[in-house]
Amino acid sequence: MAGVFWHQGKWSTEEPKVLGPMDHAFWLGSVIFDGARGIRGTVPDLDLHCRRCVQSARNMLMEPTMTAEEIEELCREGVRRMGPEAELYIRPMFFVRQGLGAAQPDPATTEFILSVYDSPMPPANGFSAITAPFRRPAADMAPTDSKASALYPNSARATAWAKERGFDMAVVLDAEGNVAEFAAANIMMVKDGVVMTPKANGTFLAGITRARVMDLLRKAGREVRECIVTTEMLESADEIFATGNFGKVQPCTRYADHHMQPGPVAAEARRLYFEWAEGSRILPKAA
Ligand code: PMP
Repeated sequence: MAGVFWHQGKWSTEEPKVLGPMDHAFWLGSVIFDGARGIRGTVPDLDLHCRRCVQSARNMLMEPTMTAEEIEELCREGVRRMGPEAELYIRPMFFVRQGLGAAQPDPATTEFILSVYDSPMPPANGFSAITAPFRRPAADMAPTDSKASALYPNSARATAWAKERGFDMAVVLDAEGNVAEFAAANIMMVKDGVVMTPKANGTFLAGITRARVMDLLRKAGREVRECIVTTEMLESADEIFATGNFGKVQPCTRYADHHMQPGPVAAEARRLYFEWAEGSRILPKAA
């Protein structure tokens, strides 16, 4: 996999080997990341991803060594190095080297690393999903206000549970038993033309793509409600779709036993997103 990496002031095309067993990040999981996408010269909402990266680090008791603006500039440089035709994943991370006793990370040993690598955009073919029995933790049970790597083993076991049953993705519930999100993307459903998505309640990542899609749909005249979404509502939805930086807008064509065609609202959201994304071009269009 081709990529460029920045660590300690240097660019490299070789993946830097940074952690050993004595590092706090390796041992106790003091790692945060963000994920943005380069799509042939555009990077939608790059500024917001960089800001969230810094905020995630602070919320995980780290001392960010870079500002959001500095991270943004490095990401742009990484995209330039990979070239105008590339479809990329852009992953800035902060991690901590040493502890302060007990589990606490020593913020003075925070480091930054950036990876920008080839990652083709997945096609919007439709995916299947089922609700897994592993819930999102509430805000007082885990650092849900951070895009912390330590939250992802739960996403992994939810996805594995769904795959063992023949589904592509897992829906996860919040601590109260309402729908929170997909294991690694946000969820929207459509009923009678109204778009509904779980109201942000601190348990799940209220994503940057989610906010962008809600805004674009509202500006296009659609009603978008942030409200309680239940699994029963999913079972009778006209459409369900996922939003997230990796796949942008992806239609769900089967939830449990409920089969759906890829719907017009998901298609509209996807079209609006990519039209808007053209405005976030950082490299000139290839001839
Ligand atoms: N929820 C989780 C758990 C995720 O990992 C992601 C992907 N970052 C999302 C939602 C979607 O967030 P965003 O649109 O900011 O990528």
